[in-house]
Amino acid sequence: MARLQGWLQICDTEPSHNICQQSSVFMPSRVIDTADALEQQTVKLVETTGMQADYIALSHCWGTSQRFLTTKSTIDEARSGISISLLPETFRDAIWLTSKLGKRYLWIDSLCIVQDDENDWLVESRQMRHIYWNSYLTVAASNGRDDNDGFLRSFKIGELIEIVLNLPSGASRRIYIQSTKARSRYVIESGELPLDSRGWTLQERLLPHRAVRYGTMSMEWACRYQEGPATGIWNDFWHLRTHLHWRRMIEQYTRRSLTYERDKLPAISGLAEMFADTTKNKYCAGLWWEGLAEDLLWTKGSGILTKPKDRNGPSWSWASVDGPIDFVMTKNNPMTVAYESTFIDSDIKLKTQNPYGEVESGTITLEGPLRPLKVIFPEKHGVGRFGYQKEWFDFEKLISEEVFELDILRNTDSIRSDVPGVEGPVVSYSLISLLIVKLTSNPDTFARVGLCRTDTDSRFERSLAASRLRIVLV
Ligand SMILES: [Zn+2]
Repeated sequence: MARLQGWLQICDTEPSHNICQQSSVFMPSRVIDTADALEQQTVKLVETTGMQADYIALSHCWGTSQRFLTTKSTIDEARSGISISLLPETFRDAIWLTSKLGKRYLWIDSLCIVQDDENDWLVESRQMRHIYWNSYLTVAASNGRDDNDGFLRSFKIGELIEIVLNLPSGASRRIYIQSTKARSRYVIESGELPLDSRGWTLQERLLPHRAVRYGTMSMEWACRYQEGPATGIWNDFWHLRTHLHWRRMIEQYTRRSLTYERDKLPAISGLAEMFADTTKNKYCAGLWWEGLAEDLLWTKGSGILTKPKDRNGPSWSWASVDGPIDFVMTKNNPMTVAYESTFIDSDIKLKTQNPYGEVESGTITLEGPLRPLKVIFPEKHGVGRFGYQKEWFDFEKLISEEVFELDILRNTDSIRSDVPGVEGPVVSYSLISLLIVKLTSNPDTFARVGLCRTDTDSRFERSLAASRLRIVLV
């Protein structure tokens, strides 16, 4: 507790932490009032109309053993007061922590959103960005698989040595030292904490100005000024809001799991909204209009992709598949590129009112070079090969349908070389193309089935002859 209070005090008062302060007067629609928690062992749900106060937000794994939930039939009971004994351990820990920090209000999704009211869920889930962003502090119960696990009881601090530093200015600071053995164990642990495997908790981690994460062996502080050891992605998100980092985040996101796969886009809608506000870019079912060429170039990562039955959405969006995906264009794979396709328009049909939420369908109209798969390169000649092509189908390899290649971009980090017997320089390059199939319902309409990369050189332009067509991707 002293450590947490120390961190909060530094973050509240140090000038360098000015960026951590939120100035908004936003409050969630409902919060848990913990005023009577310690003495009377009850809390109650309150509507916040006209209120302005600090609140703490909880990030947690629901797990399967749910106890008290706010529903249409329990909301009156929640308003009049719930005995703390009815609540799971994680909630009780969060209530205790809120009171001990001298705060009165706490936000927990399963208590503050009416769980069987679809409309309430839609309205409140759209508020997630503001709820976590504006929280006084977000408490992440990272070590719990389930709400019954609690996060304080099982938390073992490990061996920490506290040192008080007296600064020349007269102020004093506490620093904590942990053995490198424990530290390295913790860092390994941090990637495996149950909370980090859940889909919804990614934005709960990235949005708050400051958060404390309870692991099994250590607790970690992260604020915008001073982040913890396991928050590299957070740093990216806050300091470099570029496309590259959106893609990096999505790669990580698709490795997390969701209880309801239809939440694929809603669970990051807060992040998408924030990204859109910052960049003024147009959201296209998990991709962005400016930079669409790079965003379209995703492929399956380690593991398999599946197509969920209960989800529509365009074939070109990673959000229409389940399983880990990787992008071709990443931080580790910088390329200078020339674009082969021209994007003309996109049209997204939403399922709900949330522009960053579930998608019914979506089209991209574009003009680009199209040729049947696959390029036949002449046989091996001399010392090298003339060309090499590798395809990655999203699902199983298609045999019955005619597959086309649609060139999206070409790598222009080309190597010019003198080839014996060839006049002039030979330029090597890679073409990255989508694999698409024609839909019988509409002659100009195609669906994505995979990705392909062709490494070749300028001697074989003719092998890559393609017709430039205007098509619609669905
Ligand atoms: Zn701070």
